[in-house]
Amino acid sequence: MPIDATLPYDDSNIFARILRGELPSKTVYEDEFALAFHDINPQAPLHILVIPKGAYVSWDDFSERGSDAEIAGFVRAVGKVARDAGLVAPGYRLLANVGLDSHQEIAHLHVHIFAGQPLGPMLAR
Ligand code: AMP
Repeated sequence: MPIDATLPYDDSNIFARILRGELPSKTVYEDEFALAFHDINPQAPLHILVIPKGAYVSWDDFSERGSDAEIAGFVRAVGKVARDAGLVAPGYRLLANVGLDSHQEIAHLHVHIFAGQPLGPMLAR
């Protein structure tokens, strides 16, 4: 079920539980501001999720309430994860779903990194 991104943050979501160490993840990177791990149901040969450590529902929430340090740290982490995975030369796609029409399923901001093959058109036709 897609989530309503206008609702307040609820820390029972799956990614909050991963951040608290209550659920496992296949971690690829972690720093003060971000955690990156493999998507459990990959949609491309390489599919990594990057999440901020802070409690933000979506890109909308993060861009409004996140501190400058959190936003800079998170954006740099997304770039570093892709760079360290060797994705700059072959190319990759970033995606962040926000709310109902995008079908955001988990109410903690996550940026998808897709890579590993030509990724086709941006949206399903
Ligand atoms: P979205 O539709 O943008 O909210 O994407 C949610 C993503 O989280 C999907 O690609 C799921 O496969 C992924 N996902 C759900 N549960 C887990 C989990 N426990 N570990 C890693 N990825 C997950």
